[in-house]
Amino acid sequence: MSTAEAASHLRENPFGLAKSQLRRVGEIFELDPNLIRVLSQCKKAVEVSIPVAKDDGSIEVYLGYRVTHNIARGPSKGGIRYHPDVTLDEVKSLAMWMTWKCALMNLPFGGAKGGVICDPKTLSASELERMTRRYTSEIINDIGPERDIPAPDVGTDGRVMAWIFDTYSMNKGHSVLGVVTGKPLSIGGSLGREEATARGALYCIQALSVKNGERLADYSVAIQGFGNVGANLARLLHLEGAKVVAVSDSRGAVYNPNGIDVPAAVAHKQERGTLLELANAEQLTNDELLELPCDILAPCGLEQVITEDNASRVQAKIICEGANGPVTPTADAVLEDKGVLILPDILANAGGVVVSYFEWVQGLQEYFWREEEVNAKLHDIVARAFQEAWQTKERRDTSLRMASYGLAVQRVAEATTTRGLYP
Ligand code: NAD
Repeated sequence: MSTAEAASHLRENPFGLAKSQLRRVGEIFELDPNLIRVLSQCKKAVEVSIPVAKDDGSIEVYLGYRVTHNIARGPSKGGIRYHPDVTLDEVKSLAMWMTWKCALMNLPFGGAKGGVICDPKTLSASELERMTRRYTSEIINDIGPERDIPAPDVGTDGRVMAWIFDTYSMNKGHSVLGVVTGKPLSIGGSLGREEATARGALYCIQALSVKNGERLADYSVAIQGFGNVGANLARLLHLEGAKVVAVSDSRGAVYNPNGIDVPAAVAHKQERGTLLELANAEQLTNDELLELPCDILAPCGLEQVITEDNASRVQAKIICEGANGPVTPTADAVLEDKGVLILPDILANAGGVVVSYFEWVQGLQEYFWREEEVNAKLHDIVARAFQEAWQTKERRDTSLRMASYGLAVQRVAEATTTRGLYP
C-alpha cells in the first residue's frame, strides 16, 4: 500500500503543537528557557525500513520509527502505533507527551513512542507477525527493560506485544519479561492492564464528579473511538450507571439519547467489526457525535478531532481526553472561554502507563499481583495526580491542562537540573 498517499487526520504538525504547548507551560510556570529548549527536542529518533514478505510472494517495505523524548527520570516508556497516517513528527509529539504523562503520575520513566506506517486491517495475521518481528529486530538495540519499554497503542494489541517479547527474548537467549508491557496474561501480562487506560479515565471522572457534587449516574456521555480505550470506557461508565448516549468507530457513530445498550454494542462490534446498524440507535457521523448534547464528551480515537472549526459547537460541559491530543490548542482556548472543563490527556488516559509500570515491576520481580491490588494501586496514583493537578489549577488560576503539564514539566526539569548536563 502506498502509505504516503493516505489522507492524514493531522491538520496541524503535532510536534509543533507539542513544542508550543511546552513553551507556554514554561512561561506560565516561569521555567528556565534553557531547560525548555532542552526539553523541546527528542533525545533520539530512529527510522527503520521494514521489508516484509507478503502472503502472495511479493515484498512490501514499511517505514517505522522509535523515538525517545527524555530519560531524566528513568527508562523511556511509550506505545507503538500501526496506522497509515503515522509520521515522525506525530511519533515525536506522542513521545514528548509520554514524558509528561509519566512525570505527572510520578512514575520512574521518561517518554518514548513508536510507529509503523501501515494499515494493519489490510494485513493477514502472518504478515503482521513478520512485520512486527522485523520491526523489533531493527530497533532491538534501542529497546530493553532498562532502556526503552514499548506498549500497545492504536492498531497494536497484546498479540503484537507477544511477538515483540518473543523476538527480543529469542535474540537475548532467555525470556525478558520487562522488555514490553501490555503482554497477554499467559506470558507475563498484568491483570487489569487491558482496561487500565479506561479505568484511569473513569477514576478522573469520578474525582471530578465529587468536586462538582454530582454522581456518575447523573451524566450522559458520548464516546468517540471504540477500541481499547473507548470501548472499555463505555463499558465501565455503563456499569457505574452513567448514560452512554453515543459511541463510534472509524466508520461512524451510533446514537440513542435514552442510552446505548453498551454490552450489545460490544457484542455487535465483535461480531461484525463495526458499530453501524446497531439495533435501537440512530446512525451519525463522527463529526456529529462531537457536537451532541451531553454532559461528557470522551474523544478516544485519534488526535486533533476538536479544532477551531468545531470547538464552538461542542455542547458537552466536560471533555475527557481518552485519546492523546484530541483537542488542538486553538480549540482549547475556545472551549476554555465557553467554560468547558477538560480532563487533559496526560491525566485522563494515564491509567494505561500506570498499569504498564506495574506490569514491568511484576515482570522484573517475577511476582504477580491480584487484580484488586492492581486496581487499588492504580486508583491511588490517578486520584493523587488528579488532586495535585486540581490544587495547582486553583493555586495558579489556570486550566487543568496547564496545571497538569506544569506539574509534569517541573518534575522533569528538576530531574534534569539535578542530574546536570552531561558532560
Ligand atoms: P485502538 O486501535 O484500540 O482503537 C482506536 C479506535 O479509534 C478504533 O475504534 C477506531 O475505529 C477508532 N478510530 C480510528 N480513526 C477514527 C476516526 N477518524 N474517527 C473516529 N474513530 C476513529 O486504539 P486505543 O489503544 O484505544 O487508542 C486510542 C487513543 O487512546 C489513541 O490516541 C492512543 O494514543 C490513546 N491511548 C491509548 C492507550 C492504551 O493503553 N491503549 C493509553 C493511553 C492513550
